[in-house]
Amino acid sequence: MDESAVNRIAAGEVIERPASAVKELVENAIDAQATRIVVDIADGGRTLIRVTDDGHGIAADDLPLALSRHATSKTSGEDLLNIHTFGFRGEALPSLGAVGRLTLTSRALGSDGAMELRVSGGRQDPPRPAALRQGTVVELRDLFHATPARLKFLKSERSETMAVTDTLRRLAMAEPAVAFTLRDVSDGGDRVLFRADGAANLIDRLARVLGRDFTDNAMSLDAEREGIRLTGLAALPTYSRGNAVHQYLFVNGRPVRDRMLTGALRGAYADVLAKDRHAVAALFLTCDPTKVDCNVHPAKTEVRFRDAGVVRGLIVSGLRHALAEAGHRSSTTVGT
Ligand code: ADP
Ligand code: MG
Repeated sequence: MDESAVNRIAAGEVIERPASAVKELVENAIDAQATRIVVDIADGGRTLIRVTDDGHGIAADDLPLALSRHATSKTSGEDLLNIHTFGFRGEALPSLGAVGRLTLTSRALGSDGAMELRVSGGRQDPPRPAALRQGTVVELRDLFHATPARLKFLKSERSETMAVTDTLRRLAMAEPAVAFTLRDVSDGGDRVLFRADGAANLIDRLARVLGRDFTDNAMSLDAEREGIRLTGLAALPTYSRGNAVHQYLFVNGRPVRDRMLTGALRGAYADVLAKDRHAVAALFLTCDPTKVDCNVHPAKTEVRFRDAGVVRGLIVSGLRHALAEAGHRSSTTVGT
């Protein structure tokens, strides 16, 4: 199998839809210490995804490397375990270069010029000088043009756009200080879909993303158990919703989806919410990276805890404690 075929297969694992491409690219920008990230999409991301950041950039010599499989700059043993660094597989850029037409333009901090590199169908053009003041621009056109089977599985433009927006909102909650803008530039337009200026703190960012109503009606959490810490905001029972979509979970600064965690959240509110009501919450768990495996799935939204019971107990007791303090008694003893 040639390398481009390997890349295409790997790409299918990592990149399922435009939102997964956006996630990988924005995480890279965050890893590069960007303070301002702009995401432009067209046609739900199908024809264009462009992520512009003001991060530390990529040195000219490293540009071709960034597009080689497993040639990540984050492979040292320490980095592999570094909770603050997102993806470490070194697969995102090569995968994207295999399933779309990728242009990577970057100017490393302190270098006197930018370079640009194009990849299409896994084939790289030689790098050439480009105009860019700072940071990195990754432009991905015609996602899945080489894999029609994938293309066919994409949903409507509207649902792909919604998935991209949701991805960006979650990343924005995880990184309050970073300014995010998401624009729909279909047909030469310029419609802002989501925008959050750099926030001074988590509460301000959550107010921006989830609404001031939520932050005004939420309890602040801070609990710890066996080296695992729970922080964030969870709504008072009086501020509940008819569905569970407004529950946001983060493990070591990274958005995750996890049944065990949402189950614990439900359990914590069981005595104070009707069965058909759901708490709005943004919960942040932080722990030693050895206690959690965030790479169960290449898309990295699933987690596996070494000791799930401890995490569950922490969430249930942390929330019940906060509920009791807010005057909402639970029939179960607080602190278990
Ligand atoms: P990974 O993030 O897993 O290391 P990627 O394929 O996502 O692998 O990226 C490959 C490498 O390219 C990264 O390790 C990083 O060195 C570099 N890179 C990618 N995007 C950016 C960016 N926006 N700014 C600076 N460097 C980047
Ligand atoms: Mg990455």
